[in-house]
Amino acid sequence: MCPFKDPERRREWRRKYYQQHQEEACEYTKRYRQQHLEEVREKDRQFGKQHRKEISARVKHWKALNPERTKELAKRYYMQHREQLLLKSRLYRQQHPEVKKAQKLAGFHVPLGPECELCGSTKNLERHHPDYSEPLIVVTVCSSCNKEIEKNKDKPTETEEKPSFSILG
Ligand SMILES: [Zn+2]
Repeated sequence: MCPFKDPERRREWRRKYYQQHQEEACEYTKRYRQQHLEEVREKDRQFGKQHRKEISARVKHWKALNPERTKELAKRYYMQHREQLLLKSRLYRQQHPEVKKAQKLAGFHVPLGPECELCGSTKNLERHHPDYSEPLIVVTVCSSCNKEIEKNKDKPTETEEKPSFSILG
């Protein structure tokens, strides 16, 4: 159907085609997905596994361009999955009592720094514990850097710079 071999041109062509036949194409895709539900899901999963980095970079880019929409979607996701999310965090807290204890102690004794020690942002600052058994050693980071840290926690780090720790108390 598509006349181009070059992936860039093919993508361009496809984009144009979709723009011109948006509704039709949308209907067709929807129908196809409904008829081949399991197959499509498996393909999606495979694709996601193979292109994880690329996809997350693209999502990040899109989120940066659409902050309002991102907020809306996050809110909707939270409302739709509220029960599960609350349960998950409750379970986590039960299984890791040291976390809450460290957060409480640090919140009481260690003031936040003026800015995120990783990106320099001054908004949404939080305390990050590199080690929960040392409740008074915290790093001031913004919430998005904190999320990144938590996400990469179990992965091996090689080139990552170590943040400077602020210790008080
Ligand atoms: Zn940051």
